[in-house]
Amino acid sequence: MNKFLSIILFLSVFAITQAQKLNTVDNSYFITHSREEYMQKLAGLPCGINTNDPIPVILQKLHTYLVNFKPSAEYPDDVYAIESNLQALKSVKEGGYGIGAVLVDPAGKIIWEAHNSQIQKHRSDLHGEMTLLTEFEKSRLAKKYVNIYVYKPGMMVFSSAEPCPMCFIRLATAGVDTKYCTPGPEDGMVTRVSCLPSSWRDMASKHKFEKGNCSPEMQKVAHLLFFSTFLDNRGPK
Ligand SMILES: [Zn+2]
Repeated sequence: MNKFLSIILFLSVFAITQAQKLNTVDNSYFITHSREEYMQKLAGLPCGINTNDPIPVILQKLHTYLVNFKPSAEYPDDVYAIESNLQALKSVKEGGYGIGAVLVDPAGKIIWEAHNSQIQKHRSDLHGEMTLLTEFEKSRLAKKYVNIYVYKPGMMVFSSAEPCPMCFIRLATAGVDTKYCTPGPEDGMVTRVSCLPSSWRDMASKHKFEKGNCSPEMQKVAHLLFFSTFLDNRGPK
């Protein structure tokens, strides 16, 4: 084999290895359409869930898994993914939708946490990211980090799920960089920015909206918490 082919072969193997290492999860995982499919995915997580476990047992196994999960340096956003997933799980345990979010200061420290509470509080606006920003902005701590209503540089929202159109616009208005754990192929706005009216698109372009560097395990948990309505068909009928 000549030298050129050897280099090509080496680069191909390297690229495949890197792709396997960095990511990840096939994008089709992030679409779930039936309870059966959902339960199979839950049972596929490395936390001992059986498809016939009662819901409180499933949620307890997820909780134990999350609090014992050790983030590796390979996935630097897992520290935020774990906390936002724990917030999401808290909402699921309350009977709500499983989306959680944390606010991170420029030093990388989590300074606020929240979760979706639409069902709990009978409020259409209380998505995870909306609740996070609204509660934080009402707090005394906000004075240090927010200029009137725009967040100071270096602040970051980390959400367990890709922001929806409503949350995306709120985050863009707040001027805060945003990362998320599970992509939303059927509902996320980050990958559909080109659909926005031009002035909103321009506003959003001034800040980062990107998928976090999270482990496959945290991405899967975030997706399954997001779709926890399959557990008991919760929400308006
Ligand atoms: Zn939302």
